Amino acid sequence: MTVVADVMDLESALEQFDPVLGLEVHVELNTRSKMFCGCGTVFGAPPNTQTCPVCLGLPGALPVVNERAVESAIKIGLALNCEIAEWCRFARKNYFYPDMPKNFQTSQYDEPIAFNGWTEVVVDGETYRIEIERAHMEEDTGKSTHVGGATGRIHGASHSLVDYNRAGIPLIEIVTKTIEVPGEKAAAVARAYVSMLRDLLLALDVSDVRMDQGSLRCDANVSLKPKGSPVLGTRTETKNVNSFRSIERAVTYEITRQAAVLASGGKVIQETRHWHEDTGITTSGREKSDAEDYRYFPEPDLVPIAPSRDWVEELRKTLPEPPPARRARLQAEWGFTDLVMRDVVNGGAQNLIEQTVALGVTPDAARKWWLGELARAANEAGKDLDALGVGAEQVAEVQKLVDEGALNDKLAREVFDGLVKGEGTPAEIMAARGLALVSDDSALGEAVDRAIAANPDVVEKVQSGKPAAAGALIGAVMKDMRGQADAAKVRELVNAKLGI
Ligand code: ADP
Ligand code: MG
Ligand code: ZN
Repeated sequence: MTVVADVMDLESALEQFDPVLGLEVHVELNTRSKMFCGCGTVFGAPPNTQTCPVCLGLPGALPVVNERAVESAIKIGLALNCEIAEWCRFARKNYFYPDMPKNFQTSQYDEPIAFNGWTEVVVDGETYRIEIERAHMEEDTGKSTHVGGATGRIHGASHSLVDYNRAGIPLIEIVTKTIEVPGEKAAAVARAYVSMLRDLLLALDVSDVRMDQGSLRCDANVSLKPKGSPVLGTRTETKNVNSFRSIERAVTYEITRQAAVLASGGKVIQETRHWHEDTGITTSGREKSDAEDYRYFPEPDLVPIAPSRDWVEELRKTLPEPPPARRARLQAEWGFTDLVMRDVVNGGAQNLIEQTVALGVTPDAARKWWLGELARAANEAGKDLDALGVGAEQVAEVQKLVDEGALNDKLAREVFDGLVKGEGTPAEIMAARGLALVSDDSALGEAVDRAIAANPDVVEKVQSGKPAAAGALIGAVMKDMRGQADAAKVRELVNAKLGI
């Protein structure tokens, strides 16, 4: 019997159960070299061109810690209000994986560099405090590509390719304590937390934080307990959910799935699960190993890390504005209402609007495009707004064309559609799709003459003292020109020809 596919609707699930969350976020740092060797870290480099004996795990190769990575780890810890260890070590996490050439991952175990922190997120105007258990340093694994199967998974593949370029890239894993918020807010809080983290990491300039490229990855732990019960239930860990939107969907799905399992008398199995973007469900991965299975022990090839308090305090001084303060400042600068700002933040548009405004666009125009046309396209494509492939420069370029009268809003929306579809620059899209706004007087004049000739009744009304009736003529001209006329210019011409 498969109970896995059965879900309970969210509302009934939340009547019976309280969800508990725990979020593990992996951040790839943007250091120029790897965690323990001098190899480069360029994303998308040809396979296995950024490797050396250390990150390939060749016998006798010895690691050296990347100072910049430690600095970034401390900054992240401080920004999350953590204590910074006076002394800590790396540990070996032993397990076999083909894309992990050393057969162990150099990580931190019971001595993380940062621990006991907290942060806050805002959802629907409410602030939720999230406790941070730890932020520790580790290294990324390589990357396997399974060839020949239908889904890209190993199942059904004929062979696999391994790329070690990513092996040894510095990672910080940020782990929350259990998060207990009202059930109906749980999924939104999870999303808001990762989105806030992304903004924070960007502001710290420690990572590219691209979820679509895997430099920010989130594993979502979810469990349920009977409403009001103090005892935690068994959790599942949904791996590598790669957009903010998917985090919300994956958490919601797990709540409804686990509720169905528990309500039918079943038991939730402690396991990792895979999120499927296309079908919106999670499926069973592997049973979760316990910490003792990894046979952790202190890494003998690396010296302990003992960051001096002076260094830590120096780094504290470099911290950027905390996200809540930044949000309040931008809202005031832009003159947005609470409601509008909420949409901006929830829509992942805050940074994009900030960048667009910095290019000279008004806040309202920037918000209109990002939360209108582009948000709709992102939603349709199932992507986060900043992964859509349209940037602030392009939005500013289109808005400039609107300001110059070369486009109106309707045509601009078509240009955005072209941008999303990768059809080239705004100018190329306008040329290819024939979108130029007609503002040339003679073409418009002819269209106005046609409208006047075709609507003698309207003309009569206008001339008998009802200038407002001229709107119908303007409408007729716009229709004649298929919306590609400069409305202000048309009004001018109509008024001139009718002497009003
Ligand atoms: P693992 O080795 O399984 O990844 P971690 O300690 O790195 O363990 O992360 C476990 C995460 O799950 C933490 O965020 C923790 O707060 C959370 N967690 C622990 N128990 C539960 C539970 N019963 N329900 C939901 N989340 C939990
Ligand atoms: Mg973990
Ligand atoms: Zn290397």
